[in-house]
Amino acid sequence: MNVLLVYAHPEPRSLNGSLKDFSVKRLEDAGHVVQVSDLYAMKWKASLDTCDSTHRQSNMPFDPSLDSKHAFENGLQTKDIALEQDKLVWADAVILQFPLWWFSMPAILKGWVERVYAYGFAYGVGEHSDARWGDRYGEGTMAGKRAMLIVTAGGWEPHYGPRGINGPIDDLLFPIQHGILYYPGFDVLPPFMIYRTGRIDEARYSKICDSLGQRLDALWKTAPISFRPQNAGAYEIPELTLRPDIAPDERGFAAHIA
Ligand code: FAD
Repeated sequence: MNVLLVYAHPEPRSLNGSLKDFSVKRLEDAGHVVQVSDLYAMKWKASLDTCDSTHRQSNMPFDPSLDSKHAFENGLQTKDIALEQDKLVWADAVILQFPLWWFSMPAILKGWVERVYAYGFAYGVGEHSDARWGDRYGEGTMAGKRAMLIVTAGGWEPHYGPRGINGPIDDLLFPIQHGILYYPGFDVLPPFMIYRTGRIDEARYSKICDSLGQRLDALWKTAPISFRPQNAGAYEIPELTLRPDIAPDERGFAAHIA
């Protein structure tokens, strides 16, 4: 299988750097082919702007979506964007690995998503009408591929529990797991979380590697998070709200998991 690891940490000798090297070796030892997009090492340009098209008419106002669509459809994207899209198409599984910074992904990784997820590639795919709202949330360009987050956090696990002060980790990761990964069609596996990173010695590091290794070994078998597909009947279209009889007592993020 082909695995793309998109990695966002500025220091190779960090915990994240060590775990990235561990993951690559574990996957390759199991016979998989791995490509790493090491965003800091690549000096990835994080901001989406007019420079993302090789030929744009400078007298026209910049429209981030429509310019993206035009560049994608006409082969006018910059090489860095096209190369990352090729890697996504090539991959059977995609891993995003990052430290939790301000309750989300580092800006460089968000910028990777914003620029690589072009209109027509990751969104704006399929029929859009009052009867059908595109191929997304379970369908789309990434359908049939798996995705998983590897996230390190300074906070303790209970800080991210159901009543923890930071909010439940599933809620914090919902915009990434549901909005960024499920939206273009990935099957999203439960995240691999490492909490309390300030307290890691050799013994704990070794345990983390054991657990991470098991998760990587099970990449093709682990049941995905059961997000509800948009076009399988649970949602009313075009309102895109859950039908009244589906999880009637649920609100918020949890309602979108079967
Ligand atoms: P490192 O600092 O590199 O390492 C952590 C520990 O692991 C160290 O003790 C190190 O000695 C040890 N270690 C590293 N490699 C090995 C190895 N090979 N073997 C054994 N031990 C090793 N945290 C939150 O919970 N929520 C937030 O919202 C949040 N926001 C942040 C925002 C910013 C801007 C920053 C800088 C930090 C934030 N943090 C937050 C903390 C952050 O999540 C952690 O600092 C980060 O996850 C730690 O990962 P690291 O790779 O940088 O670890």
